[in-house]
Amino acid sequence: MPGLRRGFKTWCENAARGYRRDLGADPLGPLDPRMLAENLGVAVWTPQQVPGLSPRDLRQLTVTAADEWSAATLRDGDHYLVILNDAHDLGRQNNTLAHELGHVVLRHEPAKMFITSDGLMMMSEYNDDLEQEANCFAGTILVPREALLRLISSGASNREAAQHFKVSEALVRMRRNTTGVDIQTARRRRGTWTP
Ligand SMILES: [Zn+2]
Repeated sequence: MPGLRRGFKTWCENAARGYRRDLGADPLGPLDPRMLAENLGVAVWTPQQVPGLSPRDLRQLTVTAADEWSAATLRDGDHYLVILNDAHDLGRQNNTLAHELGHVVLRHEPAKMFITSDGLMMMSEYNDDLEQEANCFAGTILVPREALLRLISSGASNREAAQHFKVSEALVRMRRNTTGVDIQTARRRRGTWTP
């Protein structure tokens, strides 16, 4: 598996800190990616808000095929619109939206896209490197390393951390694996142990 560009993880931590500061968000608390979307001028809709969608199509998107898609992002010049599948639980929606915003912030160009009859670009299929970068951005803005380290050091479980950050437990596990916070916590414990 190709790795991330050198320094990219650090860039994400710094960007996450900067965006959280701009948004007035607690550096150690959860971050609602809808606030970030608003700050970036990215509109976020549910399928119900899409004008002209027939009841049959809406049913297809929100019930029949609800498991098969997470989001669709459209671009018109500098304007972005993310249609977010709100049939998914909040943790998954937060990760999906933060991931799509990662593509926007990082100005990723999709490998494939479609042009709708209205001339909108439908963003689709980014290459693996860009997907990894968007995942890294999403994980970091939702669960910054320092905030995770504090929580893990205080003995929180993955489930508690997931509830705290309003993300899935899978994302917490991914962040524990990629940030090295467990090693740092173990070192701290050893360092502070006195007989
Ligand atoms: Zn993506």
